Parts: sequence; C-alpha cells; structure tokens
Amino acid sequence: MTEGRIVKISGPLVIAEGMAGSKMYDVVRVGQKRLIGEIIELRGDRASIQVYEETSGLGPGEPVVSTGWPLSVELGPGLVTSIFDGIQRPLNVLKDESGDFIARGIDVPGLDHSKKWDFVPRVKVGDSVAPGDILGTVRESEIIEHRVMVPPGVAPGAVLEIKAGPATVDDVIATIDAGGAKATVTMLQRWPVRRGRPYREKLSPEAPMITGQRVVDTFFPIAKGGTACVPGPFGSGKTVIQHQLAKWSDAEIIVFIGCGERGNEMTDVLLEFPELTDPTTGKPLMERTVLVANTSNMPVAAREASIYTGITLAEYYRDMGYTVALMADSTSRWAEALREISGRLEEMPGEEGYPAYLGSRAAEFYERAGRVVCLGSDGREGALSAIGAVSPPGGDLSEPVTQATLRIVKVFWGLDDRLAARKHFPAINWLTSYSLYAERLGDYLAEQVGRDFAELRESAMSILQQEAELQEIVRLVGIDALSARQRLVLETAKSLREDFLYQSAFHEVDSYCSMKKQYRLLRVILMLHQAALRAVEAGAPLQPILDMPVKQAIARARFIPEDRLDDFGDIEARVKAEMPKVGG
Ligand code: ADP
Repeated sequence: MTEGRIVKISGPLVIAEGMAGSKMYDVVRVGQKRLIGEIIELRGDRASIQVYEETSGLGPGEPVVSTGWPLSVELGPGLVTSIFDGIQRPLNVLKDESGDFIARGIDVPGLDHSKKWDFVPRVKVGDSVAPGDILGTVRESEIIEHRVMVPPGVAPGAVLEIKAGPATVDDVIATIDAGGAKATVTMLQRWPVRRGRPYREKLSPEAPMITGQRVVDTFFPIAKGGTACVPGPFGSGKTVIQHQLAKWSDAEIIVFIGCGERGNEMTDVLLEFPELTDPTTGKPLMERTVLVANTSNMPVAAREASIYTGITLAEYYRDMGYTVALMADSTSRWAEALREISGRLEEMPGEEGYPAYLGSRAAEFYERAGRVVCLGSDGREGALSAIGAVSPPGGDLSEPVTQATLRIVKVFWGLDDRLAARKHFPAINWLTSYSLYAERLGDYLAEQVGRDFAELRESAMSILQQEAELQEIVRLVGIDALSARQRLVLETAKSLREDFLYQSAFHEVDSYCSMKKQYRLLRVILMLHQAALRAVEAGAPLQPILDMPVKQAIARARFIPEDRLDDFGDIEARVKAEMPKVGG
C-alpha cells in the first residue's frame, strides 16, 4: 500500500508526493482524518487528488494512503429506496453516525451488510452459467424484484452449489466450477464508477419511452434508451416536469441524481421525492427509485462523482433487464465542478474556463445510455434513458455546457420561462424543441397508435409554426389583414396550444395522457381545422365556424378518462354536424 505525504492543499485539490506505487483514479485516504479522495492526475510520484470532503484543517506533511482501488460502488439488493451521497454513502446512515452535520472521513458501505434477503434460486446444481445469467431473485421492494446475476469476470461453468433462503449480501449464494477453480458468488458486486458496465450488444432505440405528457410524446419523443437535455430556468416548471417524468414514464426504475448548488435545492429533492406516489401501484415512488443527492456540506468534487455513481447504479438495473430512466439535475453543476478542479490543476482552460475535455466527458456520460442486449444467455434486453438538466446562466443556450450537451443528446425540451410566466404548462417551447428520434419511432407509432400519426403531428407542427409568423403580421398590421384561411390557422394553433399542449400536472385525469388519447385529441382538433378550411374555401362565412359549440367539447376533451375514449367519436360526429353548410 502506497503512503505519501501532502505537499499542497488548494480547496478540494490536494497534491501529494511519494505516490509512485498508486494508479490513476485510485481512491486515497487523505490526512489524519482519512478524507476520501481520488487520484485525478499522476506525474512521477506526485499525485493530484480530488477530495470529496471539506479539506479545511488539512496540513502539509499529513499522510495520504492509496487504497489501490478505483472509486467504486456496491451493487446488490437494497439500492432501491435508498438515498445516497455522491460517493454512495447512504444519507440516513451518515446522519445516524454523525448527526445533521456530517463528520468527515466516515466510511459507510453503500449497502446494508447485515440485512437478510430471502434469496429464491432460479438455477440448480449442474446448470451451466456465465456472467449476466440470473442465479436467483430477492424481493428488493414492494415493486421491484432484484435479479442476482453472475458478475462480469467470473469464468463460465457449472453450478456446484446454490443456496436458498435468507442471506446477507456477503453470504455466498452460489459456487461455480470455473474451469477447475471454484468461484464463489455473493449478491454483492463492486464496480468502478468511471467504467461503463458490459453488455452483449447495443441496439438502436426503436420504441418510445412514453411519458404521458402530450408535448413530449407527440412532438418531441424520447426513445427507450435515448438521451435528452432540458434547460431549467428558475420558475419554468422544471421540478414539476421532472416529477411527472419520474412518475409516469414507462420506465421500471428511476435513478435521480441531484447535484444542486444551493443547499435548499437539494433539500427540496430530499423532501419532495419521497413524497411522490407511484401512480400505477399506489405505493411510494421510492419503491422503485434510487436517489443520489449531494448535500450542501459536501464540496464540489462530490458532484463530479455523483454523475458516475448514479449512472453505474442505473446500468446495473439495466443489466437485470429493466427499463431505467436516469435524470441528472443539473449537469451544469457537474461541469462547474470539473471546471473548478481543472482550474486548480492549472490546465489550459477552454471556453469560459471549462476544460477542453468538457465535451468528451459529457459524451462519455451520455454514451452509457442505450438499449442493449444484456449479458446472460436468456438474451434479455435492458434500456437506460438519460435525461440531463442544464442550468444555462441567464437562459443563454449558447454557453458551453448546454452546447456540449446538445451536440450529444438527441432530444431537447426547451423549457421556457416566458411560457411559464404566461401559465402555459408544461412550459416546453414547441418552436425551439426537437427530437431526433421522432422519425425513427414513426413505424412503432404508426403501428401502435395510428397510421396517420406522423402526418397529424406534422400538420400540427406546421400550424404552430405558421402561427408564429402570422402573429408577427398581426402585431404589425392588425388581425384584419389576415385572410379567412390565416384566421383559421390562428384559431387552430390556439386550440393546439390550449387544448393539447397545455397539460395540467395536478388534474387527476389530465396529468397522464395515453398515446391513444393523444392521437384522438390531435385528430379531432385537426379534423375541425380541415373541415373548416374546406367550408371557407367553398364560401362559408368565417364567424359561425369560429363560434361552433363543439369547440367547447374539444377544450374539455383532455379531461376525458382513458376508459371513455369512444367519446372522441361523438365529438368528431359533432364537428361534421355543426360545420356551417355553404348556402345553407
Ligand atoms: P422550477 O422548479 O422550475 O422553479 P416548478 O417546477 O416548481 O418550477 O414550477 C413552478 C410552478 O409552476 C409550480 O408550483 C406550478 O404551480 C406551476 N406548474 C409547473 N408545471 C405545471 C404543470 N404541468 N401544470 C400545472 N402547473 C404547473
């Protein structure tokens, strides 16, 4: 074990000498207090160490000991329902040990090593198994079955022994004949957070991750295994949209990484998330959630680690064959941590002081998302979708972190505080947002939702874009300058905004909207538009069309319950019946 000495301390960065025996990214214990840090630069016997705890009081000459291990997480049952800090220390245990103000240098394992889980085997003696194969399961929470897998790196072989019944994560649950040698397997795997977990094959995303949010699913969909970026100016409804995605997305596991800056941002997450209810089971959402949250008294460097800790946990559930949605709020705080450390390392700064490798680090993170064939002989698939919030200062999307992110992710949900100020929710700007999956998901949606779905979406988007141009004309020369056709475009755009894009997170029915319902709602709005266009072109007067009573039914249609979608048929019939007849 290498033992060196501190020569310099600069905030979260410590320089130590005598570290020649250690490796890049080794975890080290720094000073008498044994603070936890990670080697991020190694030159000769001089190591630069990023310390994950407050470094005040440290002095030159104090010892630095390398553990010989890279920064790793514990993977096994007990992750779901937990709240961890950026280096996977469970917050409740930390608090029990040291009170509200977390003491430094505390070693707490990520998992509870004394808890017994009821292990139910799935294989029997003599079965041949390989990494990724599921040996058995334990009930991790009321909702989640934890699949215990043969860890990567164990040689394939026959099962010599398999246990059943109560076991801790340290108990041997299986012995495998690995080419003459015996390999013992427990429910615990350790994995270095900066390295992506292995899978058999990456597949291109082809199914949408349905969120039940109309503006997302219809206009700017994210694929299962896809990546998205959402900027969140203060007060733009970012928290509400994140909660909606966590509650309603058809993902089985939610990993939420909070790297807030101000203490209260984090406190909000810690207070609010555990209050959320899982709409499909009625149980607390935490029963299928893992929270990673940096508390306010952890220094910036821990934020840097939290992103990797979170995505490693998410990959682990993907490996079990689950669909996982990871949300990171906000990756700008992560990038700021990167910038601070880079500055202290005196690296050549790039744009706005961010290191030149900002883009490649961000890419490495998002590349860990995807839809994969998991390791294991059953050929199961897993998916990990990653949604990163960014906090561009002053809402300026041209700043480096947002730009670096947008170069990688395939979806942009442009949360807009001006829309929020007008009480349009979710405040996702339909003119600036985009999804590069929309086309690829076309086949799936045509088959599952409606043949003409893509066409409807395109017409709707075109009407919304025309509205923006027409509003400009109206602003300059007044509404009288518009033709009847243009008036109808404005009218339909208003309906699209108010009756379709607007969605109340707090209304029992409106909070979630199935794809079928999104389709029916969009279809009836556009059916009215087409019929109205035909009527005015045939010479019908405009005003009676604008006053059609069916419009009120359309405005209320978002409250139609999911089991009464036939009601849309009635509204469509009314559109036809009420349309003024020319000369009639
Ligand atoms: P932020 O986190 O961006 O500061 P919040 O998510 O807390 O903002 O949203 C601010 C307020 O906007 C909420 O308290 C709520 O009243 C309103 N709001 C946001 N999204 C919606 C929505 N989808 N439906 C209804 N109201 C919303």
